[in-house]
Amino acid sequence: MKENAKTLLSNKKEVCEVIERRNAVRTLIASAVFVFAIPCLLLFSRFSGFLGNYFNSFKIWAIIFEISFLALTCAGYYVLSHNEVGWFKDYSRVSLTVQLVFLSLLCGYGYRYNQSIMYQVLLIAYFAMVPILGGMERKVYLGFTFVSVFVTVLAVSHSSTAIMEVVIAIIVDYAVCSIVHDTVIRNEHLNICLKLKTITSEKDPLTGLLNRRGLENRATTLWPYCNRTGISLAAIEIDIDYFKKYNDKFGHPAGDECLRLIASALGNTARRYTDVIARTGGEEFIVIVQDMSEEALIDFCMNIRKAVAELQIPHAVASISKYVTVSMGISVANPSYGDSFEKLYENADKALYQAKANGRNCVVYNNMIYGRMKKSVGTVI
Ligand code: GH3
Ligand code: MG
Ligand code: MG
Repeated sequence: MKENAKTLLSNKKEVCEVIERRNAVRTLIASAVFVFAIPCLLLFSRFSGFLGNYFNSFKIWAIIFEISFLALTCAGYYVLSHNEVGWFKDYSRVSLTVQLVFLSLLCGYGYRYNQSIMYQVLLIAYFAMVPILGGMERKVYLGFTFVSVFVTVLAVSHSSTAIMEVVIAIIVDYAVCSIVHDTVIRNEHLNICLKLKTITSEKDPLTGLLNRRGLENRATTLWPYCNRTGISLAAIEIDIDYFKKYNDKFGHPAGDECLRLIASALGNTARRYTDVIARTGGEEFIVIVQDMSEEALIDFCMNIRKAVAELQIPHAVASISKYVTVSMGISVANPSYGDSFEKLYENADKALYQAKANGRNCVVYNNMIYGRMKKSVGTVI
């Protein structure tokens, strides 16, 4: 329950970040469009007579806003290219405010010129479609849009039809804004949940390592990469010795804790970014490493053995060793020589079987046994 609430909260934060980024991108694009649109509008008005007598006073505003949009475009480009997440929200708010003022002014001039409600509808549509406005922001921006449109209409004419049209347009605007916002939120939630589901379905809940599915998914991407680059892959299959007896002697919860500790020892030994560690069965693990010589592989396995020994978990069969031990089987494959992942796995399994048959607590590679203890506990031979 607590976990769910935490996930929902972190989801909410992630969704907010997505919306803030999208709004920053959208308002940046809009500012850049205005930078080109204002000179075009001025030229058009100059030669077509659009805005009539209002052209000269509009021209001064147009120059002021042209400079503002140029600055906003540069600022937006900086904020987004430097990934300044903390600035996304402020940037889109400033941009939207300047855009609202400019569009209201343009609509005012347009409406004075030919009393067409078209400009007001375009302004309203702009705020419904461009930003993703939620909650308070929706009320503030749409409130300002409504006031600006209403004041212009009232100042120029008292046409009840125009006022009715403005009211209808603003109600539609509010509804569209809410639908856009809710749809974006729902889609983003779904995306995040799907991502989380994929991650958890690849993980073993007890140890946090990859499970068999996770291992297979990694293998499907790793294999073609190693095939292309000629890199060899080694699989080390690891199995805890006499684990059934461990459970019988110390109980299942202690067995689970032992599995967790062994998993952390593996994680601390296989530290390369490219190493893959998975729990493939009850007390079986696999580590996939890349491009390692025979000597390096044996050293690596000895390090695993040392890390497990250093955990100092009491052994179930005290005559074998003081502390819990593992057996390991190594196999190497070269994807570019036409080997397969299944074959790599199978050979590591065969080597592990040999390690078990040879007294456990040892490593087998190419039919050679490494690290076996003389007289069970004692010198490594
Ligand atoms: P060997 O040295 O030949 O590997 O002997 P073993 O006893 O380790 O092997 P065996 O396959 O006979 O027994 C494996 C045991 O692992 C059986 C089962 O009780 C235990 N086991 C499997 N999964 C879990 C688990 O998730 N938690 C715990 N505590 N024990 C588990
Ligand atoms: Mg075992
Ligand atoms: Mg086993």
